Amino acid sequence: MAKSAAKPAQRTKSAASATAARQNETSRNGANVNGQRHAAGLSVARGTPERNQRDSLAGIWDYAPAPETSKVTIADRYGLFIRGKFTEPRAGKAFATINPANEERLSEIAEADGADVDAAVSAAREALPRWSSLPGAERGKFLYRIARRIQERARELAILETIDGGKPIKESRDVDIPLVAQHFFYHAGWADKLQYAFPGRSPRPIGVCGQIIPWNFPLLMAAWKLAPALACGNTCILKPAETTSLTALRLAEIFAECELPPGVVNIVTGAGATGAAIVNHAGIDKIAFTGSTDVGKKIAMAVAGTSKRLTLELGGKSANIIFDDASIDQAVEGIIEGIYFNQGHVCCAGSRLFVQEGVVSEVVRKLRIRLASLRVGDPLDKNTDVGAINSREQLTKIEGYLRLGADEGGTLCQPGSAALPKKGFYCRPCFFTGVQPSHTIAREEIFGPVLAVMTFRTPEEALLRANNSPYGLAAGVWTDKGSKILEIARKLEAGVVWLNTYNKFDAASPFGGFKESGFGREGGMHGLRAYVEV
Ligand code: NDP
Repeated sequence: MAKSAAKPAQRTKSAASATAARQNETSRNGANVNGQRHAAGLSVARGTPERNQRDSLAGIWDYAPAPETSKVTIADRYGLFIRGKFTEPRAGKAFATINPANEERLSEIAEADGADVDAAVSAAREALPRWSSLPGAERGKFLYRIARRIQERARELAILETIDGGKPIKESRDVDIPLVAQHFFYHAGWADKLQYAFPGRSPRPIGVCGQIIPWNFPLLMAAWKLAPALACGNTCILKPAETTSLTALRLAEIFAECELPPGVVNIVTGAGATGAAIVNHAGIDKIAFTGSTDVGKKIAMAVAGTSKRLTLELGGKSANIIFDDASIDQAVEGIIEGIYFNQGHVCCAGSRLFVQEGVVSEVVRKLRIRLASLRVGDPLDKNTDVGAINSREQLTKIEGYLRLGADEGGTLCQPGSAALPKKGFYCRPCFFTGVQPSHTIAREEIFGPVLAVMTFRTPEEALLRANNSPYGLAAGVWTDKGSKILEIARKLEAGVVWLNTYNKFDAASPFGGFKESGFGREGGMHGLRAYVEV
């Protein structure tokens, strides 16, 4: 991690800028960098009439650029959010955060050490008695206010999420941010009804919660952690991932705007060492972690033998099962949604595809065609389907798996010929056929847009193969037969099973894993249990 000495904070600059300006230029001139001309929202390649006649429609027509042009201000430097205020880290250390779509530096983020974590824990501990003894309806009002403010600032949050993390604007705009608001609304509703969630019991808050989140859904993971904890009367210390701290810090501004009492939520930024300082702090009553199974295991060992509560949401290698009686066109859309959503940076991604032998050639043929239609590129373009990989490190890891998949005997299909942006971290979505269950790409979580296609003959074989994984986070089943759905879903070792759909999320629906995918549930009534003593 690059570190630099502290500098005075808060000169602002506009960020969506470079790309948007370039693309505005394009539309003003009516021609883009490839010499294409736009007409009625489409662009037509220049060429002789004979050539145009010869080419297929798909070859000569393309979408015009549709860049998100709203400006978002980003400070040159961000401090830690402790006791309701942004403060400098004690040691004055900071690290740079970049835009993975073009590698431009966005800002400098404070790096918290043990002393800063200690200050955050003291703030949360001091805020606890007043916050936990507020009537639930009063806590609920704060959560409603936060939810509404998130909605009001939704566009800004979506753009910032995309700039900082690389996900397509249409996903941050239509999926992430609406779900963030929904989580605060949903848990606002529970704040004064906890006794109905636990009939005959007296639910009490656990205390001070340390919450550590990953980079794939930065603001959504913050909402999954904070909203239930606050509704149940706990106070929090949240650590976002090193590469994606900006929206959590923007959420801190919203907390301050909504006059959430100081110390109820503290946000400490930094890398793994900051997370470890939270995990090991004696003043914390509960750790909630989402991230890799390796780090989850370390955390489980660190809290073993202490009185800390623990919930772990870890990795996955989820099975998406297509039976021969399924609607194949729908299933192909489900495969796309399952593995290429958010560049495949999804813990529950349907990364192992099991297709019944009779329909495998049809599924693979249609998948290849559909894959070729996905637009990979500038995440701020509203037409983009697959944005930037979150970091160079993650791109290198994915490319390593692509080589390994081919070395182990798989056949790579990675269609699409449009040029990728010259700067930034990009990987064309792809799939491997000829994969055996023993291959590394069929066993390990890649966390990228890479699908392993395998086959099965009978429902029993599908189940055996799907359950043959150390993970157990999610699964998908595609069939026309209701009885088969119920039978298979019951026997799948997965926390969530989607039937004739994939990657659908709702605040009212619990999410979590089996086996090495972790334990505890987030969302729904089940998720409240992780934040109360009963
Ligand atoms: P990590 O598990 O390393 O990171 C998750 C969070 O934990 C981050 O905030 C990270 O900080 C922090 N952290 C790292 N080390 C420690 C530690 N020793 N104690 C406490 N906190 C720690 O995941 P990565 O982001 O490195 O991703 C690696 C792999 O993990 C991915 O390729 C994927 O396989 C999996 N993953 C799974 C996710 C899921 O939702 N299930 C989400 C993200 C990743 P920082 O990032 O600042 O280092």
